[in-house]
Amino acid sequence: MLDLTKRDIKYLTGVGPQRAALLNKELGIFSMHDLLYYFPYKYVDRSRIYAIREIDGNMPYIQLKGQILSFELAGEGRGQRLIAHFSDGTGIVDLVWFQGIKYITGKYKVRQEYIVFGKPNPFNGRFNIPHPDIDEVSEVTLSSMGLQPYYNTTERMKRSSLNSRAIEKMMANLLKQVNEPLPETLSPAILAEHHLMPLTDALRNIHFPAHADALRKAQYRLKFEELFYVQLNILRYAKDRQRRYRGYVFGRVGEVFNTFYSRHLPFELTGAQKRVLKEIRRDLGSGRQMNRLLQGDVGSGKTLVALMSMLMALDNGYQACMMAPTEILANQHYETICNFLKGMDIRVELLTGSIKGKRREAILAGLLTGEVRILIGTHALIEDTVNFASLGLAVIDEQHRFGVEQRSRLWTKNDRPPHVLVMTATPIPRTLAMTLYGDLDVSVIDELPPGRKPIATIHQFDNRRESLYRSVRKQIDEGRQVYFVYPLIKESEKIDLKNLEEGYELICAAFPDCRVCKVHGKMKPAEKDAQMQLFASGEAQIMVATTVIEVGVNVPNASVMVIENAERFGLSQLHQLRGRVGRGADQSYCILVTGYKLAEDTRKRLEIMVRTNDGFEIAEADLKLRGPGDLEGTQQSGIAFDLKIADIARDGQLLQYVREVAQRVVDNDPNGERPENDILWRQLKALRKTNVNWAAIS
Ligand code: ADP
Ligand code: MG
Repeated sequence: MLDLTKRDIKYLTGVGPQRAALLNKELGIFSMHDLLYYFPYKYVDRSRIYAIREIDGNMPYIQLKGQILSFELAGEGRGQRLIAHFSDGTGIVDLVWFQGIKYITGKYKVRQEYIVFGKPNPFNGRFNIPHPDIDEVSEVTLSSMGLQPYYNTTERMKRSSLNSRAIEKMMANLLKQVNEPLPETLSPAILAEHHLMPLTDALRNIHFPAHADALRKAQYRLKFEELFYVQLNILRYAKDRQRRYRGYVFGRVGEVFNTFYSRHLPFELTGAQKRVLKEIRRDLGSGRQMNRLLQGDVGSGKTLVALMSMLMALDNGYQACMMAPTEILANQHYETICNFLKGMDIRVELLTGSIKGKRREAILAGLLTGEVRILIGTHALIEDTVNFASLGLAVIDEQHRFGVEQRSRLWTKNDRPPHVLVMTATPIPRTLAMTLYGDLDVSVIDELPPGRKPIATIHQFDNRRESLYRSVRKQIDEGRQVYFVYPLIKESEKIDLKNLEEGYELICAAFPDCRVCKVHGKMKPAEKDAQMQLFASGEAQIMVATTVIEVGVNVPNASVMVIENAERFGLSQLHQLRGRVGRGADQSYCILVTGYKLAEDTRKRLEIMVRTNDGFEIAEADLKLRGPGDLEGTQQSGIAFDLKIADIARDGQLLQYVREVAQRVVDNDPNGERPENDILWRQLKALRKTNVNWAAIS
């Protein structure tokens, strides 16, 4: 059979050693197989050329044929742009470039026929097309079919005229060589059951679609396959682990838990908390090691669930620990938990990087004897010097800041891996959770404690500062407290600090009778804590801060969150910040302050924030707006999203469907030995070998 993985790309007609080197370096394409799996990012319908007078305000990418009448340079400095007035005799559109102006004027000539491709936008009573693709008319006729593929290329490739068109030609040459079917990568049963296009046809049509319907079928088949193997990999390895790692059995619900539940719990658990605790209890008693992701919006009461799970461990003679991403948050958990357990004889300790010397030694010794029963801390917890008498449960708060590797280091803390409960306040859309944490079971707290009023969110332009201060003043007069938050971007910490300092001065001047405290990342921990303390105790009415307060801080009396330069925050970050208020029974407000001119995406983000308080809805919207690779935290999670064709944001339904298909395969063939699945297991093995990222998941 034809094995393209073994054929070096340099031997393909039209490539040669120089282009091969570029393809290696820029795109990681080494073999003909690699090239074949380099898919187009879009297709242009070359069967239709629009007339300029046909353009209306709501068109996708279209193709025009005409001439550039003249060039014009408009604007100044960073706003400078190049405009080409383009006409086909039926009207004029403006082609606009903000970058590469020199290159464009050097390349395209006035009064010559071009084919222009792009998305028309209405502007000042005319249409403009920003950064269009431009081809000479003679080049376009190269493609005889209706749909022409477009491939991403890098700047360096373009400079060596290795552009999309060149790749298209190579691809055509490559497909000419494929005169027998390529080895199929899905089993006949799966192909038949799900009506999937055979591999070779799919690859042909993904590059050169015979027609739109064939393209759709090819895309479906290739996405199906890609997601299927991602899921098969996860399920296969999760299964493996379940068999490999037996868990400690927490059979008892005993004295500690019951005492706490009946005498110390200051309020009734919500229905969701009860349900999740039951799920956790079932896991802990099952004999399998628990790996559970606990999702719940900010303020939904995850900490309490974590605490009660830890008490189950204590009742069965084990220790428990809880790991938080920052020192502030660890401190806060420690205080919260000590408070809850007041009057019960349970030794709880806090271990962070700043706890040193004798105190540290005493804690470490107590862990070894088992006297320290609950340990709260930061990364310091997983250092090699920290050893337990018998660690039975580890709770990890804010998973997205811990990598897979750190999670696995916990496992060496006892002779069997402890049960693991991962809590996240960044609600992760279900589809993404399945891919990210496919090896974890998911519990959701989808209910807030009673009596909480939804936070009212308002968008305000920063030229209306007086009215903003008036609203803030009203809240302060009623005895409430207020946050002002400024963005923090690493590359320009100096500027941000300046913003913060200026904001601080402004606010002190506007509220001369108030005590204003200030927190930012450059402060020493002790100084930071002192400032936080001022606010938590109510001595300060206003807290001016950077995003260091994003996680953690719980001040129920704070009722207003003002977010300055809100345009510079991502959606999930805005939502996290908003979650700092609305923790008491009073009506709370979140005020998003921005400049007057806003990009389309920014406006959408703000609209969503104003419209909903639902963290899951926000997470879904975030995923759609930004794409999964960008989602906060996915970077560190150990999984890169190098999906070639599937799109987690858009293909969520398919992902769910495919997961069930993969689940059935694993259920029916747990040891991977049924001959009819041969193709599947072999393909999975091959993928695991070539794809480093996959290995990191398991
Ligand atoms: P999360 O960690 O999920 O953001 P927390 O655990 O910090 O939320 O809980 C937020 C606040 O709600 C805390 O003050 C907590 O004591 C309180 N709380 C938790 N569960 C309940 C409940 N069932 N009823 C009333 N208040 C609760
Ligand atoms: Mg919390």
